[in-house]
Amino acid sequence: MKDKIWLSSPHMGESEQRYIKEAFDSNWIAPLGPNVTAFEKELSQYLNVDNVAALSSGTAAIHLALVILGVRIGDEVISSSFTFSATVNPIVYQGATPVLIDSEEDSWNMSPELLEEAIIDRVSKGKKPKAIIIVHLYGMPAKIDKLLDIANKFKIPVIEDAAEALGSKYKGKACGSFGAMGILSFNGNKIITTSGGGALISNNAGYIKKTKFLSTQARDNAPHYQHSQIGYNYRMSNVLAGIGRGQLEVIEERIKRRREINQWYREILGNIPGISFQTEPTNQFFSNYWLTTITIDPNLVKTDCETLYLAFKNENIEARPLWKPMHLQPIFKNTPYYKNGICENLFNNGLCLPSGSNMTIDEMSRIKNVLEWELLDRR
Ligand SMILES: *Cc1c(COP(=O)(O)O)cnc(C)c1O
Repeated sequence: MKDKIWLSSPHMGESEQRYIKEAFDSNWIAPLGPNVTAFEKELSQYLNVDNVAALSSGTAAIHLALVILGVRIGDEVISSSFTFSATVNPIVYQGATPVLIDSEEDSWNMSPELLEEAIIDRVSKGKKPKAIIIVHLYGMPAKIDKLLDIANKFKIPVIEDAAEALGSKYKGKACGSFGAMGILSFNGNKIITTSGGGALISNNAGYIKKTKFLSTQARDNAPHYQHSQIGYNYRMSNVLAGIGRGQLEVIEERIKRRREINQWYREILGNIPGISFQTEPTNQFFSNYWLTTITIDPNLVKTDCETLYLAFKNENIEARPLWKPMHLQPIFKNTPYYKNGICENLFNNGLCLPSGSNMTIDEMSRIKNVLEWELLDRR
């Protein structure tokens, strides 16, 4: 069996182990510590946001954002349907109901038209949504200015799920820095990783102060342990923040490489009628191209996504279907959903291609062979 080619595997730089060693040498083996403080500062500089709280996961960051916005039992929270379940689950942790919105054609992200339609409809039912979670999927920025205009018109706060979009930009501004709060993930398969981790970012200092308080068990300012609010254990470990500091030193190289890989796929597949890529709609969008994703039009191409997926699998290469939309998930089957059919169509005809920044020339040629055999030779 040939070695496995992963969809997106961790890619360490040179300094991670040095920062971890510092944590060991100073015995800061704890949640919090100098690496956490420095990682937060370095992230805030990189993203040009005022405040960052490093947390144990992206999911924890979404959960705290909802807690801070006062989302509670019986509330409704709007979210993109086309996303990973971690976006939507924290809404349910709060006892609230998700309201799911379909995608738009250009970016594959939340449709501004449907967002407005949904808000008007929910308000008319006496259920004004408490928050909106907008996802920048696979690294592609959503049409954030249009979406924010609508959210602002109805005075509903926006949480940006930039878990997949660290380093992506819209009009030169970092994804995650537009809304009331943004979240990042440093899970093992993301563009940079701390093995597991996340962050909440905001230009509102009060939100991040609250995040740091809630994520360390919400201890009141007293020497005895006193609590007047429910707290969480969601802070990032000082050891893992060391990995994050090393990773942040190489992020620009990682983005550059992911974008080169995206370009490489376009050179192989770009001229085949019926194959489309998730693509920056205009030069105002800058995607980190965390994953290169394609759709295959079954009317124009003989091979479908499932066949291609299996052909990769046969060669021990990991490809992955696009995210199964949340409105199609058994757990969310009774959830309100505003649709145009786009994300279902993407799910039925799309595939994520191996996109790791550490793929070797050899691995790329194995991938190319499968693509050529399945999509070119057999046409
Ligand atoms: C990875 C991911 C998350 C969750 O991040 P974790 O750090 O794994 O908890 C949330 N939303 C999206 C879109 C993701 O891809």
